Amino acid sequence: MLRALGADARPVRRPEEIAAVDGLVIPGGESSVMDKLARAFGVQQALRDRIAAGLPVYGTCAGLIMLADDIRDAIAGQQTLGGLDVVVRRNAFGTQLDSFETDIAMPALGEAPVHAVFIRAPVVESAGESVEVLGRLDDGRIVAVEQGPLLATSFHPEVTGEHRFHERFLQKVGAFAASHAR
Ligand code: GLN
Repeated sequence: MLRALGADARPVRRPEEIAAVDGLVIPGGESSVMDKLARAFGVQQALRDRIAAGLPVYGTCAGLIMLADDIRDAIAGQQTLGGLDVVVRRNAFGTQLDSFETDIAMPALGEAPVHAVFIRAPVVESAGESVEVLGRLDDGRIVAVEQGPLLATSFHPEVTGEHRFHERFLQKVGAFAASHAR
């Protein structure tokens, strides 16, 4: 998705690789495993430092969990990177209803609704004052948020070819790169 939008995208695994990018996507997956590996491979602090310094980050699903300051239904000892002033509940839609799709109006992204795919998805249970809510389910639950350089969604826009979130993220990356010329 990022390459299709013209970005120079690459996987990052090591602290020195993390130091060399102007933006980061934390994708879906399993947040408890991401947390364990981030600590085992010594990148947790590097990531926290860059987030604290204003690095644009887009987190989808497990990535949203990693960005959250506070999580519910975490596994024992699970940590996040933090930075996003939200409380997120993992696996908020239960185990039976693992996955569903729905259309969500998100005026900040334009008129067309977002077709969102939720896969064992989390929800944002509460958000601080500096967090802008971009999207909610019909029942009011928050599933897309933004706070300065941080963007996060409960769902996976890349699965349906929805590119507006990645475009929005890349605008932040461009602004960050311009103000942090290497
Ligand atoms: N349930 C996963 C977790 O807790 C997230 C699932 C996903 O990223 N699609 O990390």
